Amino acid sequence: MAREFNIAKSSGCCLSCQKHLEPGDKYTATLRQSDEEFFREDFCLDCWGQQKDKVGPEVFGIWLSEVPQPKQKKKLLVDNDVLLNFFRRLEGTDDPQRIRFRYVLTLILMRKRILSYQGSGKQEQTEVWQMRHRGTEDTYEVVDPRLTEDEIADVSEQLNQILEQDL
Ligand SMILES: [Zn+2]
Repeated sequence: MAREFNIAKSSGCCLSCQKHLEPGDKYTATLRQSDEEFFREDFCLDCWGQQKDKVGPEVFGIWLSEVPQPKQKKKLLVDNDVLLNFFRRLEGTDDPQRIRFRYVLTLILMRKRILSYQGSGKQEQTEVWQMRHRGTEDTYEVVDPRLTEDEIADVSEQLNQILEQDL
């Protein structure tokens, strides 16, 4: 019963001024949650500069990207810091979709050896993992939503689509 994500991919235009983003243009990509849907929204750097101070908690992903040249291989623009930032911004939520998203991000960050698993415990009916950011003293709790393999694959695929790269 994995819920469908509805994620708009890059539109190729700045959401604010509608300027078409040309190959080589840098822009700011954001991920926003509205009710049960996620939206990818892109802004040219000028527009982003005017509104970045108004970003609310519903925006949990922000990263700098660049429109690739037509035949160019896509650059890896979402780095580990960006992923860790998503992870942090999704902390402390009761929203089931955010919990799923954060859990899959945790698996990815473990695979990339950014987070290490410290143990787990029950909090009421919920399984909670203790994680540590490697090389630091920062610890995090992650709710285990007990996804099936298929659900994990589904969420991973959605992440790859919105980020336009394979994590
Ligand atoms: Zn613009």
